[in-house]
Amino acid sequence: MDFLAGNMGWIEVVCGPMFSGKSEELIRRLRRAIIARRRVQVFKPVLDDRYSKDEIVSHSEQRIASTVVSGAAEILSVLDWRTQVVGIDEANFMGPGLVDVCGQLADSGKRVIVAGLDTDYMGRPFPPIPDLLAMAESITKTLAICMRCGNPAKQTQRLFASEDLIVVGAAGMYEARCRACFEAGTSKQEYFPFARPQRQEGG
Ligand code: ADP
Ligand code: ZN
Repeated sequence: MDFLAGNMGWIEVVCGPMFSGKSEELIRRLRRAIIARRRVQVFKPVLDDRYSKDEIVSHSEQRIASTVVSGAAEILSVLDWRTQVVGIDEANFMGPGLVDVCGQLADSGKRVIVAGLDTDYMGRPFPPIPDLLAMAESITKTLAICMRCGNPAKQTQRLFASEDLIVVGAAGMYEARCRACFEAGTSKQEYFPFARPQRQEGG
């Protein structure tokens, strides 16, 4: 899977919830490509500069140099066309243009490795990842560990009140949950005591 014969490009998608090891897996694949002396470029969206502006950093502190772009279209304008392997992290923040951009890169003979959230805080498919899955040659779904029960977790649980689709945050704002423990939207019981029914004092 790692090394393609000739000049054929393709698209690999790594998707799953937060904390599931998407960035780790992306970094692992990119490091192997660098060991194979492929020309590698890595991109992440400007929206996500939580840990570093010029690196992708996993929750386990693995890192790799990357270029910040404002969206998918900018990847094409800053791409060195000699690049053979293109890595893209936080793909769900790259905008709808990402599907076409990845298609163009793969059609022009590049190996494109894309990592991103496949569902949002409500558990809904997170554009443009579903379309990318349909276009990809290879799909890997990573699972995290449910912070409630320890089972494999496919959901990203939001721990604060907001109906905005995109609120960039890390530990403390989101956690991984399994199907059974996930509460679409915000986990109200634990974090918003005011939302609990008030107990009547006295009579
Ligand atoms: P992602 O890119 O999917 O958010 P990362 O690759 O950045 O994930 O981080 C994965 C690492 O996060 C794991 O190797 C582990 O060290 C750590 N981690 C923290 N919380 C969890 C969890 N609930 N389940 C699994 N790994 C976790
Ligand atoms: Zn659970």
